[in-house]
Amino acid sequence: MRRLLFFCFIQFISVLIFGQSALLTVAEKTNYESTSRYADVISFINKLKSGSSLIKVEIFAKTTEGRDLPLLIIANPMPKKPEDLKDDKRIVIYIQANIHAGEVEGKEATLMFIRDLLKEKNPEALKNIVFLICPIFNADGNEKISPLNRTYQNGPQNGVGVRYNGQFLDLNRDAMKAESPEIKGVISNILNKWDPYVMMDCHTTDGSYHVEPTTFTWMVNPDGDNSLIAYMRDKMMPEMSGTLLNKYKVENCFYGEFNDMLAPEKGWIYDASEPRYVTNYVGLRNRLAILNENYVYADFKSRVNGCYCLIKSLTDYLNLHKDEIKNMLREVDQKTVSRGLNPAVTDSFTIEYKLRPVSSLVTIKTFEAELATESNGRRNYRKTDRQKNVTVPYFIDYYSVKSVKLPFAYILDTFDPQITGLLETHGIKLEKLSEMCKVEVERFNITELKGSQHLNQGHYNNTIKGSFIKDTIEFAAGTLVVRTAQPLANLAAYLLEPQTNDGLVTWNFLDRYLVPQWGFGYNPYPVYKVINKIDLKTTAIRK
Ligand SMILES: [Zn+2]
Repeated sequence: MRRLLFFCFIQFISVLIFGQSALLTVAEKTNYESTSRYADVISFINKLKSGSSLIKVEIFAKTTEGRDLPLLIIANPMPKKPEDLKDDKRIVIYIQANIHAGEVEGKEATLMFIRDLLKEKNPEALKNIVFLICPIFNADGNEKISPLNRTYQNGPQNGVGVRYNGQFLDLNRDAMKAESPEIKGVISNILNKWDPYVMMDCHTTDGSYHVEPTTFTWMVNPDGDNSLIAYMRDKMMPEMSGTLLNKYKVENCFYGEFNDMLAPEKGWIYDASEPRYVTNYVGLRNRLAILNENYVYADFKSRVNGCYCLIKSLTDYLNLHKDEIKNMLREVDQKTVSRGLNPAVTDSFTIEYKLRPVSSLVTIKTFEAELATESNGRRNYRKTDRQKNVTVPYFIDYYSVKSVKLPFAYILDTFDPQITGLLETHGIKLEKLSEMCKVEVERFNITELKGSQHLNQGHYNNTIKGSFIKDTIEFAAGTLVVRTAQPLANLAAYLLEPQTNDGLVTWNFLDRYLVPQWGFGYNPYPVYKVINKIDLKTTAIRK
């Protein structure tokens, strides 16, 4: 209490001396003993707004418990609407914090970053960058602050929020099925509307022991454009890592954990590959994404500082390379559209993949771990004081082992509003047949459909087996069509292909259509593939 009074006093003196510039986050005000509540974040934003015309706030979603989620737009000049940025020389980026509301340093770091950016009269970074920032993505989870949450985390000692949102969903598993207002909101009102070219999602690790307070990595799903994954792996991420260390003096490494805590030489692994993770999802949309994971055993102040400096390193990188990124992403979009206009025999879509190390090794400043018996009798890993540097393979290259043909178009034999609603939320262009037509298609013949034994995010995830069979089918006028000649073709294919690990089948959207009420076997899979280019007469569906 005494310490808190002391920091309040310091803050009071600072305000007297520096006025508005002394605006402090809750973390700073409490010497990193507490983190901001929702009301603190909103109050901080309002103070920033009252002191600067370079910041605007939009509400992009309302949470289950009724909280408005703020998106901060920081730009000079401020665009009236997102379309004004179409031919702008600046790059739009999106930074998101607090998706897991126990992992709180991003919330403090983003607020501090904006405050410090706006201290300059004419911020240099705003010549090149339009920042979109959501400091408190999981506001409902944040408000359940308790010192009993994440007790293994090294502060803040007065407690943090919980992982799940107001529906008990993990928002970082919801990007494909989009069942939460938070994810629906970010896709519809940020990604579709503003089309940020780079996004960063801020977290705290739970994994292996090491010295580095800050870790990060890139989007990895192999159905994203591989040239973008290579750009992140070979250029952007190593350069940002160097800046973070050399300019900002923050030790860092790429995110992962040891394959075997007791034998680090077996390698460092990043094992979250599905696009249900927000960063991988952004990769499927042909955009760059950074997963920031700050080290759970580093003290709160070091974690906030690490995240803050990573945002600065990203800003530095974009100041130098924004045109390169903008050109690259535009080319990849065009390449995706041209591929769909007339798919080649070699154009395929991965439905199964494996993991191998990338060619460069990574060095981790680790602490040796040992197995110890806890008071409850359970055996668990324990960190020792024996620090050693290991240089080991980095398992992050997800490569295709089984693929199917990428079609010219998908034809959907359903008008299910949950399915059309999901596709529209993702921004996937839907059309309808303007006349009846007979089309040569590949249809999926199901031989096995299995639900998982355990519930996952309220679902028994399906896996499906079967094969594609050529057929000629007559479709009525009005039948729905998704062409692959669109920038979001990879995302559309991931959702519609029956055998991916994160599509409509996985998340039970098609359950009622696949199994007959009586009898045996399976109904036809209601999504058909038109493999080769044909003259499909369609009209666009307006939202
Ligand atoms: Zn997390």
